Amino acid sequence: MSVWSLVYEGFDPEQQPLREALCTLGNGYFATRGAAPEARADGVNYPGTYVAGLYNRLSSTVAGRTVENEDLVNTPNWLPLDFRLEGGSWFDAREAELLDHHQELDMRIGVLVRRLRWRDAEGRVTRVQQRRLVHMDKPHLAGLETTFVAENWSGAFEVRSGLDGGVTNSGVQRYRSLSNKHLDVLAAEAVDAEVVELEVQTNQSRVRVAEAARTRMARAGGPAPARREVSVHDGFVAQTLTLELRQEEPVTIEKIVALYTSRDRAISEVRTEARTAVQRAGGFDELLVGHKRAWEHLWSRYGISITGNNTHPQLVLNLHIFHLLQTVSPNTIDLDVGVPARGLHGEAYRGHIFWDELFIFPFLNFESPTLTRSLLAYRHRRLDAARWLAREEGHEGACYPWQSGSNGREETQRLHLNPRSGRWLPDNSHLQRHVNIAIAYNVWQHYQVTRSIEFLRFTGAEMLIEIARFLASVASYNPALDRYEIRGVMGPDEYHDAYPGTDRPGLDNNAYTNVMTVWVLLRALEALEALPLHYRHEVLAELGLADLELERWRDISHKMRVPFHQDGVISQFEGYEQLEELDWDAYRQKYGDIKRLDRIMEAEGDTPNRYKVSKQADVLMLLYLLSVEELRELLGRLGYELPSDAIPRTIAYYLARTSHGSTLSGMVHAWVLARSERERAWKFLLEALESDVSDVQGGTTAEGVHLGAMAGTVDIVLRAFSGMEARGDVLRFNPALPAELPEVRFSVHYRGHRVEVTITGERFRVTARPGPGRPIKLGVGEKVIDLEPGATVELDLDPVA
Ligand code: BGC
Repeated sequence: MSVWSLVYEGFDPEQQPLREALCTLGNGYFATRGAAPEARADGVNYPGTYVAGLYNRLSSTVAGRTVENEDLVNTPNWLPLDFRLEGGSWFDAREAELLDHHQELDMRIGVLVRRLRWRDAEGRVTRVQQRRLVHMDKPHLAGLETTFVAENWSGAFEVRSGLDGGVTNSGVQRYRSLSNKHLDVLAAEAVDAEVVELEVQTNQSRVRVAEAARTRMARAGGPAPARREVSVHDGFVAQTLTLELRQEEPVTIEKIVALYTSRDRAISEVRTEARTAVQRAGGFDELLVGHKRAWEHLWSRYGISITGNNTHPQLVLNLHIFHLLQTVSPNTIDLDVGVPARGLHGEAYRGHIFWDELFIFPFLNFESPTLTRSLLAYRHRRLDAARWLAREEGHEGACYPWQSGSNGREETQRLHLNPRSGRWLPDNSHLQRHVNIAIAYNVWQHYQVTRSIEFLRFTGAEMLIEIARFLASVASYNPALDRYEIRGVMGPDEYHDAYPGTDRPGLDNNAYTNVMTVWVLLRALEALEALPLHYRHEVLAELGLADLELERWRDISHKMRVPFHQDGVISQFEGYEQLEELDWDAYRQKYGDIKRLDRIMEAEGDTPNRYKVSKQADVLMLLYLLSVEELRELLGRLGYELPSDAIPRTIAYYLARTSHGSTLSGMVHAWVLARSERERAWKFLLEALESDVSDVQGGTTAEGVHLGAMAGTVDIVLRAFSGMEARGDVLRFNPALPAELPEVRFSVHYRGHRVEVTITGERFRVTARPGPGRPIKLGVGEKVIDLEPGATVELDLDPVA
């Protein structure tokens, strides 16, 4: 089986929502789910098209309260292509007698192919082949080519090619009781003999979206005449072509579409742009040439090759990189967008941006730091909104929201629905202040990989310092302990949002938040040191940073409280040790799948707050972000000793108490175990690879892929197995491949160089591509070597135990 194709045989209505999400095509500017072109939203099918960064807000009433939600808007469906034998009913895969149905996502070139044959009641068999692309090089263009062949008949055939502005946001079942109509249709009409166009406007953010579709028809040997009729109703504009199909003579209908929004740059007015773009565009085959080339270049940069007996992991890694690049790509650079947790693939989490970029940017940094920089600029532009949020909460600095959308306001809902109990419940998840740690971490990693003083001066340092300021202001001094504490927050584990039996939301001294706060404070101080003196003075003056404040940061960096259990295991938060143990077996027996224990327990009238149970890695996130040495150093600085057995015991403790209710969890555990327990790490990685392709959460992938887990699994191969780390001025490697991976190959960007890496169980080989620039300092184990551009270093690796 090819490691580049996702293939689905047969049409299965139950599988359709998942397949649509996994067969989404996108280019970082917009994406469209892999829905059948003749399908409309109807419970089985859900064609969705999402433009990066296009949000709209609507008010709804739930549980007697008015709530406002901001959503990534489902923009008009450009796919519609209906067909029928004249006089018959429009083709519907659920009703037709299907003889074949084959769908194939070719990830190497970003093309979705569909082939089907169906027989009507009179025994007439028709063959259909479709190819679809969302152009990677011309981000406003998409194309759908359909070839019809009448196998055993000749006669009249109708094809309706249209644009549907009547769409709503109704892709997620549990949001369906909320308002979902975001678009007003402004215009829907034919422009010339081949082109129809549609213009809509979002009803709150007032973004205009124009789509134009050009439909052409060709028969072997040249264009073919057809009668065309235009129809417009309820925001749907279409051309119906009536043509003669002659037995075994293929007829091809080509639909080329352009999409523009008023958020675009270098435009005059959206309708003109969309219309002109389709009028100027080449045919499908011509567009395919540039599209394929763009993908080829992307793969040569981002591709990771693993060899092993089983090709499935390679296929899924390709799928993960593919969907990441369809969400953020070179077309994203210069757009004002972040990375939605569920891609541009569906409506779950309303297209909001969480801390998930922590699992995405480190990988992107090593492949295309320009792209990461643009994504960090999304955060930087919202620094004032974050400052405002900090102020509102009575703090200093900048507090980025747990969920972010258009303008950086906190978008986290205050009520959420438990579909199991049907109850709307208070949602405290906005107390996950650790999202700020993720942003600071990404700022620092970007700087480590690029060493860009310009970035640090004009973007990075400001964010880092304002976040440090916020975290320091959240920390309060407890004189009785002579320690600083952070109270009333939530860690990454969302099962715990309060102490049992209290009304006060949040928990105290979440170990992850506290330790990483110290890390952030130290990096902020380091960033100031790294800046040339005149820049440092400018930044200090601009941010009004006085010595006293920096002194307090240093003090916190020595005196932050970190809770431990009696036996030295790091406590997830103050008091975790006093919680009750859960009877895991009883729950497993009763419910089978207990990933979402929170929903199960709430429906039972209980709460996970009472138990030692985590949704996802929390304490162990420390080992995801920090090496054991770094963690030991940080804790040592705080006056806590970390005996050598404390780490394995901490890992074992939380592994036994985690339900992996988030797809991020298994991936983080694979990472954490990558060095100490390779076999187990490999198993976790294999499971994490299945998150979306096998929809392990039973239905969530259909609502959008899990980009954090997708990028994170790729990053495990890239960084965890290779031990690659950009720290100080050295690019370090410390390879440790699992037995199942005999060889790993990839290339990365590092400080202006492209470095190619090959690792096997015994050998390690690095080549810096020829080019200008100073040599790189390469660290392998204890050795540090200068690597000149064009040079190769090859070393034997110590056999691993
Ligand atoms: C996870 C969060 C994550 C969010 C978006 C939640 O289920 O618990 O950590 O940020 O999904 O992916």
